[in-house]
Amino acid sequence: MSNLYKTVRLDIEKTPLLDKLARASGELYSRILVSYWRVLRKKGIFLSNYSMQRWHISSDLHAHTCDAIADNFYASIRSANQRKKAGDTQAKYPRRRKYFYKITWKSAAIRLKDGKLVLANGRGNKPLIFDWQWDQPKQVEIGWKQSGGYQLRATYPVAATNAPVGNLIAAVDLGELRSATTHDGQETVIYNGRLIKSKVAYRNKITAQIQERISKTKRGSNRRKKLVRAKSRIVAKINHQIKDILHKQTQHIVSTLHKKGVQTLVIGDIRDIRKSMDYGKEMNQRLHSWSFGKFRELLSYKAKILGMQVVLQNEKDTTKTCPGCGKKHKPKGRLYKCRSCGFKFDRDGVGAINIRSKYLGCLGVPVVGVMATPVGVRYRPHLQCSSMSRRFPVGQ
Ligand SMILES: [Zn+2]
Repeated sequence: MSNLYKTVRLDIEKTPLLDKLARASGELYSRILVSYWRVLRKKGIFLSNYSMQRWHISSDLHAHTCDAIADNFYASIRSANQRKKAGDTQAKYPRRRKYFYKITWKSAAIRLKDGKLVLANGRGNKPLIFDWQWDQPKQVEIGWKQSGGYQLRATYPVAATNAPVGNLIAAVDLGELRSATTHDGQETVIYNGRLIKSKVAYRNKITAQIQERISKTKRGSNRRKKLVRAKSRIVAKINHQIKDILHKQTQHIVSTLHKKGVQTLVIGDIRDIRKSMDYGKEMNQRLHSWSFGKFRELLSYKAKILGMQVVLQNEKDTTKTCPGCGKKHKPKGRLYKCRSCGFKFDRDGVGAINIRSKYLGCLGVPVVGVMATPVGVRYRPHLQCSSMSRRFPVGQ
Protein backbone atom coordinates (compact mmCIF):
# COMPACT_ATOMS: atom_id res chain seq x y z
CA MET A 1 0.00 0.00 0.00
CA SER A 2 1.35 3.40 -0.88
CA ASN A 3 1.26 6.27 1.52
CA LEU A 4 0.56 8.83 -1.16
CA TYR A 5 -2.75 10.64 -1.19
CA LYS A 6 -4.75 12.83 -3.48
CA THR A 7 -7.31 15.27 -2.14
CA VAL A 8 -10.58 16.58 -3.53
CA ARG A 9 -11.55 19.91 -1.96
CA LEU A 10 -15.05 21.30 -1.99
CA ASP A 11 -16.46 24.45 -0.44
CA ILE A 12 -19.79 23.64 1.16
CA GLU A 13 -22.80 25.49 2.56
CA LYS A 14 -23.05 26.21 6.24
CA THR A 15 -26.03 24.33 7.75
CA PRO A 16 -27.36 23.99 11.33
CA LEU A 17 -26.41 20.29 11.32
CA LEU A 18 -22.82 21.05 10.26
CA ASP A 19 -22.55 23.69 12.98
CA LYS A 20 -23.88 21.20 15.50
CA LEU A 21 -21.36 18.53 14.46
CA ALA A 22 -18.43 20.95 14.44
CA ARG A 23 -19.49 22.14 17.88
CA ALA A 24 -19.75 18.54 19.16
CA SER A 25 -16.30 17.89 17.72
CA GLY A 26 -14.89 21.00 19.43
CA GLU A 27 -16.53 19.99 22.69
CA LEU A 28 -15.04 16.48 22.53
CA TYR A 29 -11.62 17.82 21.57
CA SER A 30 -11.68 20.20 24.53
CA ARG A 31 -12.69 17.41 26.95
CA ILE A 32 -9.79 15.27 25.71
CA LEU A 33 -7.37 18.20 26.00
CA VAL A 34 -8.49 19.16 29.50
CA SER A 35 -8.37 15.54 30.73
CA TYR A 36 -4.93 14.97 29.28
CA TRP A 37 -3.36 17.94 31.04
CA ARG A 38 -5.37 17.55 34.25
CA VAL A 39 -4.44 13.89 34.71
CA LEU A 40 -0.83 14.73 33.99
CA ARG A 41 -0.86 17.58 36.52
CA LYS A 42 -2.68 15.76 39.30
CA LYS A 43 -1.43 12.19 38.90
CA GLY A 44 1.70 12.58 36.84
CA ILE A 45 0.35 10.13 34.26
CA PHE A 46 0.39 10.49 30.49
CA LEU A 47 -2.96 9.07 29.43
CA SER A 48 -2.71 6.94 26.32
CA ASN A 49 -4.72 7.55 23.18
CA TYR A 50 -6.39 4.17 23.72
CA SER A 51 -7.69 4.95 27.21
CA MET A 52 -8.69 8.44 26.12
CA GLN A 53 -10.81 6.99 23.32
CA ARG A 54 -12.56 4.75 25.82
CA TRP A 55 -13.10 7.55 28.28
CA HIS A 56 -14.47 10.34 26.10
CA ILE A 57 -17.04 9.92 23.36
CA SER A 58 -19.77 12.05 21.83
CA SER A 59 -23.15 10.62 20.93
CA ASP A 60 -23.55 13.30 18.25
CA LEU A 61 -20.66 11.90 16.25
CA HIS A 62 -19.85 8.57 14.63
CA ALA A 63 -17.68 6.39 16.89
CA HIS A 64 -14.77 6.55 14.43
CA THR A 65 -15.13 10.32 14.21
CA CYS A 66 -14.62 10.42 17.98
CA ASP A 67 -11.50 8.26 17.64
CA ALA A 68 -10.16 10.56 14.92
CA ILE A 69 -10.43 13.56 17.25
CA ALA A 70 -8.31 11.80 19.88
CA ASP A 71 -5.90 10.68 17.13
CA ASN A 72 -5.49 14.28 16.01
CA PHE A 73 -4.86 15.51 19.53
CA TYR A 74 -2.18 12.86 20.11
CA ALA A 75 -0.64 13.55 16.71
CA SER A 76 -0.10 17.19 17.67
CA ILE A 77 1.43 16.14 21.00
CA ARG A 78 3.80 13.84 19.11
CA SER A 79 4.74 16.44 16.54
CA ALA A 80 5.44 19.02 19.26
CA ASN A 81 7.65 16.45 21.00
CA GLN A 82 9.54 15.75 17.81
CA ARG A 83 10.02 19.42 17.03
CA LYS A 84 11.23 20.15 20.55
CA LYS A 85 13.66 17.26 20.30
CA ALA A 86 14.96 18.70 17.03
CA GLY A 87 15.68 21.97 18.85
CA ASP A 88 12.72 23.98 17.61
CA THR A 89 12.03 26.57 20.31
CA GLN A 90 8.80 27.62 18.59
CA ALA A 91 7.18 24.20 19.06
CA LYS A 92 4.11 24.35 21.26
CA TYR A 93 1.90 21.69 22.82
CA PRO A 94 -1.85 21.92 22.20
CA ARG A 95 -3.24 23.87 25.16
CA ARG A 96 -6.26 25.74 23.89
CA ARG A 97 -9.80 24.51 24.01
CA LYS A 98 -11.68 24.70 20.75
CA TYR A 99 -15.26 25.77 20.37
CA PHE A 100 -15.47 24.28 16.88
CA TYR A 101 -13.24 21.52 15.55
CA LYS A 102 -12.97 19.68 12.25
CA ILE A 103 -15.06 16.55 11.73
CA THR A 104 -13.38 13.46 10.28
CA TRP A 105 -15.09 10.43 8.78
CA LYS A 106 -13.16 7.21 8.35
CA SER A 107 -14.06 4.58 5.76
CA ALA A 108 -16.62 2.74 7.93
CA ALA A 109 -18.72 5.93 8.11
CA ILE A 110 -18.49 6.74 4.39
CA ARG A 111 -20.84 5.36 1.75
CA LEU A 112 -21.31 6.12 -1.92
CA LYS A 113 -24.76 5.50 -3.31
CA ASP A 114 -26.32 6.66 -6.61
CA GLY A 115 -23.92 9.55 -7.02
CA LYS A 116 -24.37 10.68 -3.41
CA LEU A 117 -21.76 10.69 -0.72
CA VAL A 118 -23.29 9.70 2.61
CA LEU A 119 -21.44 10.50 5.85
CA ALA A 120 -22.81 8.76 8.95
CA ASN A 121 -23.04 10.52 12.29
CA GLY A 122 -23.87 9.57 15.87
CA ARG A 123 -27.24 8.43 17.13
CA GLY A 124 -30.00 10.95 16.59
CA ASN A 125 -28.20 12.91 13.88
CA LYS A 126 -29.04 12.48 10.23
CA PRO A 127 -26.19 11.64 7.87
CA LEU A 128 -24.68 14.37 5.72
CA ILE A 129 -25.36 13.85 2.02
CA PHE A 130 -23.50 15.45 -0.90
CA ASP A 131 -23.73 15.12 -4.68
CA TRP A 132 -20.60 13.23 -5.58
CA GLN A 133 -18.96 12.75 -8.99
CA TRP A 134 -15.81 11.01 -7.72
CA ASP A 135 -15.05 7.56 -6.30
CA GLN A 136 -15.63 6.64 -2.70
CA PRO A 137 -12.95 8.39 -0.64
CA LYS A 138 -10.83 6.72 2.02
CA GLN A 139 -11.34 9.56 4.46
CA VAL A 140 -13.39 12.77 4.58
CA GLU A 141 -12.78 15.83 6.67
CA ILE A 142 -14.94 18.92 7.03
CA GLY A 143 -13.32 21.96 8.55
CA TRP A 144 -13.60 25.70 8.77
CA LYS A 145 -11.50 27.68 6.31
CA GLN A 146 -9.58 30.67 7.60
CA SER A 147 -11.12 32.77 4.87
CA GLY A 148 -14.60 31.72 6.08
CA GLY A 149 -17.02 28.90 5.30
CA TYR A 150 -16.80 25.12 5.53
CA GLN A 151 -14.61 23.03 3.28
CA LEU A 152 -14.86 19.32 2.60
CA ARG A 153 -11.61 17.46 1.94
CA ALA A 154 -11.83 13.91 0.62
CA THR A 155 -8.63 11.88 0.42
CA TYR A 156 -7.78 9.01 -1.90
CA PRO A 157 -4.75 6.79 -1.79
CA VAL A 158 -2.87 6.92 -5.08
CA ALA A 159 -0.56 4.30 -6.44
CA ALA A 160 2.70 5.50 -7.92
CA THR A 161 2.49 5.43 -11.71
CA ASN A 162 4.91 3.38 -13.71
CA ALA A 163 8.50 4.37 -13.30
CA PRO A 164 9.80 6.70 -16.00
CA VAL A 165 11.36 5.25 -19.11
CA GLY A 166 15.01 5.97 -18.58
CA ASN A 167 17.63 5.81 -15.89
CA LEU A 168 18.85 9.38 -15.67
CA ILE A 169 19.82 10.90 -12.36
CA ALA A 170 18.98 14.54 -11.69
CA ALA A 171 19.84 16.75 -8.73
CA VAL A 172 17.95 19.71 -7.30
CA ASP A 173 19.57 22.53 -5.39
CA LEU A 174 17.12 24.60 -3.37
CA GLY A 175 18.14 28.19 -2.99
CA GLU A 176 16.71 31.36 -1.63
CA LEU A 177 16.49 33.77 -4.55
CA ARG A 178 16.02 31.10 -7.15
CA SER A 179 13.61 28.52 -5.76
CA ALA A 180 15.32 25.59 -7.36
CA THR A 181 18.03 24.64 -9.84
CA THR A 182 18.05 21.24 -11.50
CA HIS A 183 20.86 19.42 -13.28
CA ASP A 184 20.46 16.10 -15.07
CA GLY A 185 24.00 15.57 -16.26
CA GLN A 186 23.55 17.73 -19.32
CA GLU A 187 21.01 20.46 -18.85
CA THR A 188 20.83 22.93 -15.99
CA VAL A 189 17.46 24.63 -15.35
CA ILE A 190 16.98 27.50 -12.95
CA TYR A 191 13.53 28.14 -11.45
CA ASN A 192 13.01 31.67 -10.31
CA GLY A 193 11.87 32.29 -6.75
CA ARG A 194 11.55 36.07 -6.80
CA LEU A 195 7.77 35.97 -6.82
CA ILE A 196 7.68 34.08 -3.53
CA LYS A 197 10.11 36.56 -2.03
CA SER A 198 7.95 39.48 -3.11
CA LYS A 199 4.85 37.81 -1.69
CA VAL A 200 6.61 37.39 1.64
CA ALA A 201 7.75 41.01 1.59
CA TYR A 202 4.24 42.22 0.76
CA ARG A 203 2.78 40.08 3.52
CA ASN A 204 5.18 41.52 6.07
CA LYS A 205 4.53 45.08 4.97
CA ILE A 206 0.78 44.82 5.11
CA THR A 207 0.70 42.99 8.47
CA ALA A 208 3.04 45.62 9.95
CA GLN A 209 0.66 48.34 8.77
CA ILE A 210 -2.37 46.64 10.29
CA GLN A 211 -0.44 45.89 13.46
CA GLU A 212 0.29 49.56 13.87
CA ARG A 213 -3.40 50.40 13.53
CA ILE A 214 -4.23 47.63 16.03
CA SER A 215 -1.85 49.10 18.57
CA LYS A 216 -3.80 52.36 18.48
CA THR A 217 -7.11 50.72 19.34
CA LYS A 218 -8.47 49.84 22.77
CA ARG A 219 -8.14 46.31 24.05
CA GLY A 220 -11.39 44.40 23.55
CA SER A 221 -12.93 47.01 21.27
CA ASN A 222 -14.88 46.05 18.17
CA ARG A 223 -12.47 48.06 16.06
CA ARG A 224 -9.56 45.97 17.30
CA LYS A 225 -11.40 42.69 16.73
CA LYS A 226 -12.19 43.77 13.18
CA LEU A 227 -8.55 44.61 12.46
CA VAL A 228 -7.26 41.36 13.97
CA ARG A 229 -9.68 39.44 11.76
CA ALA A 230 -8.65 41.43 8.71
CA LYS A 231 -5.01 40.69 9.44
CA SER A 232 -5.49 36.94 9.67
CA ARG A 233 -7.58 36.98 6.49
CA ILE A 234 -4.80 38.69 4.56
CA VAL A 235 -2.14 36.38 5.97
CA ALA A 236 -4.23 33.34 5.03
CA LYS A 237 -4.73 34.67 1.52
CA ILE A 238 -1.06 35.34 0.87
CA ASN A 239 0.00 32.02 2.39
CA HIS A 240 -2.47 30.37 0.06
CA GLN A 241 -0.91 32.18 -2.91
CA ILE A 242 2.57 31.08 -1.85
CA LYS A 243 1.39 27.48 -1.55
CA ASP A 244 -0.13 27.71 -5.01
CA ILE A 245 3.16 28.92 -6.51
CA LEU A 246 5.06 26.13 -4.73
CA HIS A 247 2.61 23.55 -6.08
CA LYS A 248 2.91 24.76 -9.65
CA GLN A 249 6.68 25.09 -9.60
CA THR A 250 7.30 21.67 -8.08
CA GLN A 251 4.82 20.10 -10.51
CA HIS A 252 6.64 21.71 -13.41
CA ILE A 253 10.06 20.58 -12.22
CA VAL A 254 8.96 17.00 -11.62
CA SER A 255 7.01 16.55 -14.84
CA THR A 256 9.85 18.05 -16.92
CA LEU A 257 12.36 15.66 -15.38
CA HIS A 258 9.97 12.74 -15.72
CA LYS A 259 9.55 13.42 -19.43
CA LYS A 260 13.32 13.38 -19.86
CA GLY A 261 13.49 9.92 -18.28
CA VAL A 262 14.86 10.83 -14.87
CA GLN A 263 14.66 7.82 -12.56
CA THR A 264 16.38 9.17 -9.49
CA LEU A 265 15.90 12.63 -8.03
CA VAL A 266 18.63 13.76 -5.67
CA ILE A 267 17.57 16.64 -3.43
CA GLY A 268 20.06 18.74 -1.52
CA ASP A 269 19.61 18.31 2.20
CA ILE A 270 18.84 21.77 3.50
CA ARG A 271 18.89 20.83 7.16
CA ASP A 272 21.00 23.77 8.22
CA ILE A 273 19.31 26.34 6.05
CA ARG A 274 18.48 28.47 9.10
CA LYS A 275 22.11 28.97 9.88
CA SER A 276 23.01 29.99 6.37
CA MET A 277 20.30 32.61 6.12
CA ASP A 278 20.66 36.03 7.54
CA TYR A 279 17.18 37.34 8.18
CA GLY A 280 16.63 39.99 10.76
CA LYS A 281 13.13 39.14 11.76
CA GLU A 282 12.24 35.82 13.27
CA MET A 283 8.95 35.80 11.41
CA ASN A 284 10.71 36.12 8.06
CA GLN A 285 13.03 33.34 8.98
CA ARG A 286 10.20 31.07 9.96
CA LEU A 287 8.31 31.72 6.76
CA HIS A 288 11.41 31.16 4.69
CA SER A 289 12.31 27.90 6.34
CA TRP A 290 8.69 26.88 6.05
CA SER A 291 8.67 27.51 2.30
CA PHE A 292 11.94 25.60 1.88
CA GLY A 293 10.57 22.64 3.79
CA LYS A 294 7.31 22.76 1.88
CA PHE A 295 9.14 22.94 -1.43
CA ARG A 296 11.16 19.87 -0.64
CA GLU A 297 8.14 18.00 0.68
CA LEU A 298 6.06 18.75 -2.43
CA LEU A 299 8.94 17.93 -4.73
CA SER A 300 9.53 14.49 -3.17
CA TYR A 301 5.84 13.74 -3.00
CA LYS A 302 5.16 14.57 -6.64
CA ALA A 303 8.28 12.77 -7.81
CA LYS A 304 7.21 9.62 -5.94
CA ILE A 305 3.76 9.75 -7.53
CA LEU A 306 5.49 9.69 -10.93
CA GLY A 307 7.48 6.65 -9.88
CA MET A 308 10.81 8.34 -9.26
CA GLN A 309 13.18 7.43 -6.49
CA VAL A 310 13.92 10.37 -4.17
CA VAL A 311 17.23 10.63 -2.33
CA LEU A 312 18.40 13.29 0.10
CA GLN A 313 22.02 14.27 -0.30
CA ASN A 314 24.14 16.12 2.22
CA GLU A 315 25.13 19.46 0.71
CA LYS A 316 28.52 19.92 2.35
CA ASP A 317 31.10 21.48 -0.01
CA THR A 318 28.68 21.47 -2.94
CA THR A 319 28.70 25.25 -3.27
CA LYS A 320 32.49 25.57 -3.02
CA THR A 321 33.88 22.79 -5.17
CA CYS A 322 34.75 23.67 -8.76
CA PRO A 323 33.19 21.20 -11.24
CA GLY A 324 35.99 22.07 -13.69
CA CYS A 325 39.04 21.17 -11.59
CA GLY A 326 37.82 20.02 -8.18
CA LYS A 327 39.49 22.81 -6.16
CA LYS A 328 37.47 24.59 -3.50
CA HIS A 329 36.69 28.30 -3.56
CA LYS A 330 34.07 30.28 -1.73
CA PRO A 331 31.83 31.77 -4.44
CA LYS A 332 31.15 35.50 -4.53
CA GLY A 333 27.99 36.82 -6.16
CA ARG A 334 25.65 34.95 -8.46
CA LEU A 335 28.39 33.70 -10.75
CA TYR A 336 30.87 31.03 -9.72
CA LYS A 337 34.34 31.81 -11.03
CA CYS A 338 37.19 29.39 -10.43
CA ARG A 339 40.49 31.10 -9.66
CA SER A 340 42.44 27.97 -10.56
CA CYS A 341 41.03 26.84 -13.89
CA GLY A 342 38.79 29.72 -14.98
CA PHE A 343 35.57 27.68 -14.92
CA LYS A 344 32.57 30.02 -14.89
CA PHE A 345 29.01 28.99 -14.20
CA ASP A 346 25.86 30.08 -12.44
CA ARG A 347 26.33 29.61 -8.71
CA ASP A 348 23.14 27.59 -8.09
CA GLY A 349 23.91 25.57 -11.21
CA VAL A 350 27.24 24.62 -9.64
CA GLY A 351 25.33 23.56 -6.52
CA ALA A 352 23.06 21.24 -8.51
CA ILE A 353 25.96 19.78 -10.54
CA ASN A 354 27.88 19.06 -7.35
CA ILE A 355 24.94 17.57 -5.45
CA ARG A 356 24.56 15.15 -8.35
CA SER A 357 28.28 14.38 -8.43
CA LYS A 358 28.35 13.87 -4.69
CA TYR A 359 25.48 11.38 -4.93
CA LEU A 360 27.40 9.56 -7.68
CA GLY A 361 30.47 9.57 -5.46
CA CYS A 362 32.55 11.76 -7.74
CA LEU A 363 32.45 15.23 -6.18
CA GLY A 364 35.61 17.07 -7.19
CA VAL A 365 36.30 14.84 -10.16
CA PRO A 366 36.59 17.27 -13.09
CA VAL A 367 33.64 17.22 -15.47
CA VAL A 368 34.71 16.45 -18.99
CA GLY A 369 33.54 18.72 -21.80
CA VAL A 370 31.77 22.04 -21.79
CA MET A 371 28.75 22.54 -19.55
CA ALA A 372 25.65 23.75 -21.44
CA THR A 373 24.49 27.26 -20.50
CA PRO A 374 21.74 27.05 -17.89
CA VAL A 375 18.18 27.92 -18.89
CA GLY A 376 15.89 29.86 -16.62
CA VAL A 377 12.21 29.24 -16.03
CA ARG A 378 10.21 32.22 -14.93
CA TYR A 379 7.01 31.71 -13.01
CA ARG A 380 3.96 33.27 -14.66
CA PRO A 381 0.89 33.00 -12.48
CA HIS A 382 -1.78 33.61 -15.11
CA LEU A 383 -0.73 30.66 -17.21
CA GLN A 384 -1.55 27.00 -16.83
CA CYS A 385 0.82 24.71 -15.04
CA SER A 386 2.13 22.91 -18.10
CA SER A 387 2.82 26.11 -20.00
CA MET A 388 3.36 28.42 -17.07
CA SER A 389 6.83 29.28 -18.02
CA ARG A 390 8.83 30.60 -20.84
CA ARG A 391 12.36 29.40 -21.12
CA PHE A 392 15.06 31.96 -21.48
CA PRO A 393 18.82 31.77 -21.42
CA VAL A 394 20.53 33.05 -18.31
CA GLY A 395 23.29 35.54 -19.03
CA GLN A 396 26.71 34.58 -17.82
ZN1 LIG B 1 38.37 25.08 -11.32
